Amino acid sequence: MRNEILIIGGGVAGCAASIALARKGLSVTLIEREPTPRHKVCGEFLSGEALEDLHALGIDVASLGAVPIQHVRLAAARRAAEAPLPFPAASLTRKTLDTALLAEALVAGVHVKSGCRVQTLNRNADNVWEATLDDGSTRTAPTVFLATGKHDMRGHGRPKDPQQWVAFKMYFRLTSEQTAELADASELMLYPGGYGGIQPVEGGIANLCCVVQQRYLACAGNRWENFLAKMQEDCPHLAMRLKGAEPLLTKPIAITHLPYGFIRSSTEDGLYCIGDQAAVIPSFTGDGISIALHTARCATTAYLAGVLAPAFQTKLRSDLLFQMRLAEVAANGLNNSLARAVLPFCLKVWPGVMRVTAKLTRVAQSATAHPHMVTES
Ligand SMILES: Cc1cc2nc3c(=O)[nH]c(=O)nc-3n(C[C@H](O)[C@H](O)[C@H](O)COP(=O)(O)OP(=O)(O)OC[C@H]3O[C@@H](n4cnc5c(N)ncnc54)[C@H](O)[C@@H]3O)c2cc1C
Repeated sequence: MRNEILIIGGGVAGCAASIALARKGLSVTLIEREPTPRHKVCGEFLSGEALEDLHALGIDVASLGAVPIQHVRLAAARRAAEAPLPFPAASLTRKTLDTALLAEALVAGVHVKSGCRVQTLNRNADNVWEATLDDGSTRTAPTVFLATGKHDMRGHGRPKDPQQWVAFKMYFRLTSEQTAELADASELMLYPGGYGGIQPVEGGIANLCCVVQQRYLACAGNRWENFLAKMQEDCPHLAMRLKGAEPLLTKPIAITHLPYGFIRSSTEDGLYCIGDQAAVIPSFTGDGISIALHTARCATTAYLAGVLAPAFQTKLRSDLLFQMRLAEVAANGLNNSLARAVLPFCLKVWPGVMRVTAKLTRVAQSATAHPHMVTES
């Protein structure tokens, strides 16, 4: 029983954890609600740490068509500034990445059950975790890794998102001139109520991913077309990029409930929370995938070392706290109208600031199981 593990959610964190545990010879079942990987709302920026973790899992992003990203540009009002990224980075669609991770999980010997949603997760009379699936079947295991990303499981949810963020993603085929101008850069654009990013992904197309607070979206009649027009009005740099561009999805993918800044502080025995279920960093950092991989690695290391889930979760929180709070402060600055007003005049110094913040908001690689943690008996 000790070696049976249930992983709920087959995204980045769930797949990474399942691969690591299966490679240690453990019996791992992964339950993913989607029958096959599909597009997810994500900027699809892979930071240096994410690339290292993916490489260790056996994922060769270059062979999957990932585009190297070497520059970051910030555009506010009519100005833009550029800086070289101080670390290697790439971009790859989540559909391609999630497909590769699930394939690797199968190779590692994980029992993957796709197309089934876990509806409830509770302790049963024998005090083991019991998951009820939407096909009516149940799965029991003493240890569960909760990796459902933005979807909360009843009884194990995260706090509300007071800012009521809404996020959109849309793929575009830019004109050849704009494709060449965008080149190997990830561009961050600021506008009232939020920010957005555009960057090239595999297949010669670009990903526009943006977040906005609900009250600003309401000003655009809660309609994507109006909001897209407003973003371009407020940020002419985006209007230039999208001039003559062809949208490639019939409508954008959208999500709500983004509790930015959340870090889980406690959990129950045998329940390791990873990925967005452990921590949600503001999207502009492009660090969510890296944190998902990092938390999966720390949780599996902790489990294998016999560290109890509550002790793991407390340690993880303290390890991530500084980076998360720093990212929040930076995000509040981006959303502050005064900061946005003065930013265009500060863009000359921005490349230096970007380099510093990019370094500071990276995950501390040291965060892992600690010898003085309580161990499972
Ligand atoms: C607007 C936006 C832009 C972002 N841009 C970036 C970026 O550029 N770079 C970056 O690194 N990060 C980015 N992120 C963050 C990143 O997308 C997430 O942090 C990351 O996907 C978290 O991984 P995860 O494994 O926790 O969740 P996911 O990858 O979302 O996986 C969760 C999986 O669980 C499954 N699931 C959910 N509920 C159930 C259930 N009940 N039963 C079974 N399966 C279930 C889902 O179908 C899904 O496949 C962005 C996030 C947002 C919102």
